[in-house]
Amino acid sequence: MTMILNNVQDALVNAYSQFSLLEGGENANYIPYLASIPNNVSSMAIVTVDGDILSQGDSDFRFALESISKVCSLALALEDVGPAEVQNKIGADPTGLPFNSVIALELHNGKPLSPLVNAGAMSTVSLLKASSSEHRWERILDIQQQLAGAPISLCEELNHSEQTTNFHNRAIAWLLYSADAMYCDPMEACDVYTRQCSTLVNTVELATMAATFAAGGINPITQKKVLTTENIPFLLAEMTMEGMYGSSGDWAYTVGLPAKSGVGGGILTVVPGVMGIAAFSPPLDAMGNSVRGQKMTASFTQQLGYNLYKNR
Ligand code: GLU
Repeated sequence: MTMILNNVQDALVNAYSQFSLLEGGENANYIPYLASIPNNVSSMAIVTVDGDILSQGDSDFRFALESISKVCSLALALEDVGPAEVQNKIGADPTGLPFNSVIALELHNGKPLSPLVNAGAMSTVSLLKASSSEHRWERILDIQQQLAGAPISLCEELNHSEQTTNFHNRAIAWLLYSADAMYCDPMEACDVYTRQCSTLVNTVELATMAATFAAGGINPITQKKVLTTENIPFLLAEMTMEGMYGSSGDWAYTVGLPAKSGVGGGILTVVPGVMGIAAFSPPLDAMGNSVRGQKMTASFTQQLGYNLYKNR
């Protein structure tokens, strides 16, 4: 194991030193808080299924979870209603359109197709079993914490920034409602979805989330069983189809691992049975993925030969 960890450490140092200062991209600017984050921070972390932790860069820096929160809520929905209902009510296909597209809804009679685009994510939030808006939010925060193996909190400043600019998402929520694809009050779903995007994590916590998926639902840091092992393949399949926005196909082609990125600059990648990987740096490409995060992750996994489509 020491030998293998040495290789992992070398690959990590190599990936980070090559790409953590790469030029290019811009912070997300449609959420004022995200535009204000320094664009020169970068970090990477690995958590293995045995609980080993390796990191590089500003791994204590907490950043906005944003769209990566969609994976946590999907994991909870799979627990609550099962894979068949998620597929029937939300979908299991890429939309081929931007993450906040309303055209995607028009084209498919109001069915969101993927739980990892905004429409599908709000519909997923609405599917969760909850007795009130606060209960819905508490359950989501709880699953984020269980997956991360650490306390996670809402960033009030970010939440305020999002809640006062999320008019497009509110419109999507009402469109879903009009198409019978919303399973609680649409404004409740939009509000709770906006909050779930507004929590902060560091790369070690994000890599622990990924490692929990890699370990079949057992958090390798807390040793707690968080998710049903049989549900994990459905979660990873959804990530493969839509996890990297409009670059999901290119990511599958070049990296070959399920991943989810967020406009906060984070990327979570899963090597099933082996480890979770997290990369972070705020500048995004035109698709919404961290420029440095993609390069660091691709370099790291390629050096070690991790790719689901490869016979290792
Ligand atoms: N809160 C953001 C939104 O819904 C998250 C987007 C993302 O990370 O893709 O617009």
